[in-house]
This record gives sequence, C-alpha cells and structure tokens, in this order.
Amino acid sequence: MKIVVDFDLCESNAICMQIAPDLFEVRDDDFLYVLNEEPGEDRREALEECVQRCPKQAISIAE
Ligand code: SF4
Repeated sequence: MKIVVDFDLCESNAICMQIAPDLFEVRDDDFLYVLNEEPGEDRREALEECVQRCPKQAISIAE
C-alpha cells in the first residue's frame, strides 16, 4: 500500500503524526512530511485511523 496526501488540503495540524509518528511528521517549517510512503501491512490499521481522523480528508491509501 502507498500513502497519498493531498498537500493542498492538508493544514498541518499533526493529527496523523500523533497517530502514526513513524509515517508522518510535521516539521518546524509547518509542512507535513511522509516518512515512509510505502509502509508494510502491519501499519494498515494505524494508517486507516489517520485517513478517518484527518479533519481535512487529505490522506488516502493507494494499493
Ligand atoms: S491529519 Fe490531515 S490535515 Fe492534519 S497534518 Fe495529517 S494530513 Fe494534514
């Protein structure tokens, strides 16, 4: 699976980083960085939670 972020929608509120800090990081420059674009299946549950809880619906999963 591959993480897809619509950076035009993202408002860098770091909710995804709180759920999965190994996948997402909001840095001092206030931009979101995807740390691992193609995580293993063991991170699917956490990633799906990020998708659901992102208030901007900026995250999606490509298979
Ligand atoms: S939860 Fe959504 S809006 Fe917030 S930083 Fe992550 S991708 Fe951006």
